[in-house]
Order: sequence, then C-alpha cells, then structure tokens
Amino acid sequence: MNHPLDGILTDVSKLTDVMLDSFLSNGVRYILIAGLAYFIVHIVMATWYAHKRIQNVTPDGKQISREMRYSIGTLIVFAALDIIVIWLHEMGVSQLYFDVAKYGWWYLLASFFATILVHDAYFYFIHRLMHVGPIYERVHKVHHASTNPTPWAAYAFHPLEAVLEFGIAVVLVVVMPLHIIVLLAFVHYMLLMNCLAHLGFEFFPKGFARHPIGRWFLTATHHNLHHRTFRYNYGFYFTFWDRVLGTNHPHYEDLFDEVAGREGSLAEQTPLVRS
Ligand SMILES: [Zn+2]
Ligand SMILES: [Zn+2]
Repeated sequence: MNHPLDGILTDVSKLTDVMLDSFLSNGVRYILIAGLAYFIVHIVMATWYAHKRIQNVTPDGKQISREMRYSIGTLIVFAALDIIVIWLHEMGVSQLYFDVAKYGWWYLLASFFATILVHDAYFYFIHRLMHVGPIYERVHKVHHASTNPTPWAAYAFHPLEAVLEFGIAVVLVVVMPLHIIVLLAFVHYMLLMNCLAHLGFEFFPKGFARHPIGRWFLTATHHNLHHRTFRYNYGFYFTFWDRVLGTNHPHYEDLFDEVAGREGSLAEQTPLVRS
C-alpha cells in the first residue's frame, strides 16, 4: 500500500498541499494555545489579576501585531521543516517510527523527556550565540523588540532564528528513534512552555524560585527578565544551564518573590526597581 506522503518530493502539487496543511495545522495550534493564553490572561484576568503583571505596562496593539506578523514567518519555516522531516523519512535517514511495540512504552516515555533535555541544552547555547553582536543586530533583535512580551511573541522570530532554534526537531529524528506521538507531544509541550515564558504575568507562588525543585524550572518572570535585561536568563524549559554557567539574573529570586508575593489591586503594585 502506498504511504499518503509517497512521492511528495517529486509531485509539486502534492508538496504544496502538504506544506499548506502543515502551515495551517501549526497555525491553528499557535492561535489556540498562544491566543487562548493571551485571551484568558491579558483580557479576561487582566483587571483582577493585574497585581501579578510582571511589568506594570500593558502591551499595545502595535507590539501584538508585530509579534503576530513575525510568527507567520515562523509558521512558514515550520512547514518547510516538516517537509524536511518527511524527506528524511522517505530517504530512510530519519528514525521516526509508528509502532509503539518497536521500542516499548518505557522507551516512548524516556524519549519524550530526552527530547526536552536535549532541546533545553541546544536552545541555551544557540540563544547565547544569538546575543553575539552582529548576530543579535541582524537576527535576534526581532524577538527582543518586545521588552515586555505577550504569548504572541512565542513564535516572533527572525526566520533564520526560527530555522536554528526549531530545527532541533529535524536533528532529533535523525539522531534518536522517536515515535510520531513523541514528536507531536514535544512540539505541543515546546509551544506551551514558550507561551508560559512569554506570559507577562506570574502564576507560580512566592518561594517557587527558591524551592529545591521549583528553582530549576523556568517561570514567566525568569524569561521576562531576559527580555528586559538582554544579558541574563537564556534558558527555555529549565534554569539549569543559567545556574551552572553563571548567567542566571543575580536578583531573579528576589524579583520573582516581589511579583509572586504581591496582593491586591494594580494601585498597590510596587514597581520593579532593579534590573
Ligand atoms: Zn535573547
Ligand atoms: Zn522570548
């Protein structure tokens, strides 16, 4: 029986259909997850949860439309990356598999956590590279145009950065056996964490950033500080690499507790004074 994707690389109309499908499904996922996060947090909860806004500034429509515009570019990059994954599969180079029994359930679970750990390390070092003078100016500056990001910034990257940072999915399917479900779970988890990092509001409780376990997990305050200071907090899922390599913001825990510990209305909010 022919696989539905057989021959897509030689049939232009089939290739266009698959790219369009991929663009739309990634787009729907982005709108559902980033859009829902924005709608719930920035619109529905904005007033009564205003005291947990990390920066006492409301992002304007201009910023949001810029974040969305660049995200469309990233969605096109994703569609191209999907085609590369399919091509690698057709060439027999990828280790993507479809039968759980091939490696078992334990491997399935372990491979999911492995993708997160590998991506966390990969992202940290690529992100640091992005802050090198000319690369920052030409590429990463696009993402940093939002000094107080919203969830719509989750995909707001220069196309080259989108290829570098999300091309990890292509690398992963080549270097390790990955079930299709794991690949999909990885993509969804990545977007969820990306939205959390750019949320602009802090939901974790006071003390979380000092907790023996909590301190290793990234928070919205952690990444928001990166957007404000440009020189600390490069991590994606965990604070591990920042802590080990000395790039964690020196006042992160204090600033986190200041935001997470606020009570009451926006009027009582104390501004963040340190950066
Ligand atoms: Zn950065
Ligand atoms: Zn960011």
